[in-house]
Amino acid sequence: MAEEGQAAGEAPDLRGMNRAELEAFARGEGQPAYRGRQLLRWIQGRAVADFDAMTDLPAAWRASLKSRLPLAPAEVVRRQVDPEDGTVKLLLRLRDGELVETVRMRYRYGYSACISTQVGCNVGCRFCASTLGGKRRDLTAGEMAEQALAVQRELLPHGERLSRLVLMGMGEPLENYAETLRFLRLAHEPEGMAISYRRMTLSTSGLAPAIERLAEEGLPVTLAVSLHAPNDELRRRLVPMDNRYPLARLMEAARTYAARTGRRLTFEYVMIDRVNDEPEQARELATLLRGLPGHVNLIPLNESGRGLRSSPPGRIEAFRQVLERSGVEVTVRRSLGRRIDAACGQLRRREAEAPERSPAPLPG
Ligand code: SF4
Repeated sequence: MAEEGQAAGEAPDLRGMNRAELEAFARGEGQPAYRGRQLLRWIQGRAVADFDAMTDLPAAWRASLKSRLPLAPAEVVRRQVDPEDGTVKLLLRLRDGELVETVRMRYRYGYSACISTQVGCNVGCRFCASTLGGKRRDLTAGEMAEQALAVQRELLPHGERLSRLVLMGMGEPLENYAETLRFLRLAHEPEGMAISYRRMTLSTSGLAPAIERLAEEGLPVTLAVSLHAPNDELRRRLVPMDNRYPLARLMEAARTYAARTGRRLTFEYVMIDRVNDEPEQARELATLLRGLPGHVNLIPLNESGRGLRSSPPGRIEAFRQVLERSGVEVTVRRSLGRRIDAACGQLRRREAEAPERSPAPLPG
């Protein structure tokens, strides 16, 4: 039977399988169940993408798996490093040729990977390059895992590993609900990447029913709601798919999420010069968020060439002060990777517009 995220007749994608599925897979191959756990440790725990390297598996089985199953890592088409903050952006080519972006960020507490959940996006945020051209397809859990594993492969040789995941790359994770949830559970596998749910952040543009569904899953992941506007009229222009769920409905879903999971919420607010950064709009935002447990992240716009400019530091600070005086917890997010097209979708778009360019060599 085909696994979720895998078409009938396709070879199973071992990168998308959890412990129980790999144990069942091993048994189906005539191997003891513990061989499945060994596969999990190699593939997810050690980010190994070569059956030959899995030296505690029987050689004949390794050779057989290698002849039947694809496990090669996604091709790194481009790799950009921000020389000042160390942010690394990978442009990965999937097996069907589609391109996805993954960003590695370094924070005080360790490394975080920003994962894409779809190829392209249908939400249509006015400031985002990923949405130009719409959604091409959903990613499978295995393809999301491959993004994290691509980052792990760069970290493990240096004795480092990923400690956080943010689902804030290309796509709307809750539009691809089943595969996204599958990936979160997979990344949590103790013998795999072993990332705590509390160190995972799922960012949504505001699919209220899916937020309520997520609240019932028993996964204490941080929910980041991309607001970007304090009222429906402006939000409809900045986040067009929001037409379906007005802010009042979204706030109700966010409240439910916080109550069910006990997690504080994050509200993302991209600061766009003269569009959503007036003091009056800060007051409106404070009113909207009254009584909700969480904080606001003000994010200087990472300009993607779509005709909008980031609010200058003075306007961001003024906006922040109004929120703070209104009793809203607020931080201004460090904008990582400004020098490497790290805003969502920019690198992929650039590559698509310059197909003749040959792959960049990997810097050391
Ligand atoms: S910001 Fe996120 S949700 Fe909005 S269009 Fe871009 S990828 Fe989609």
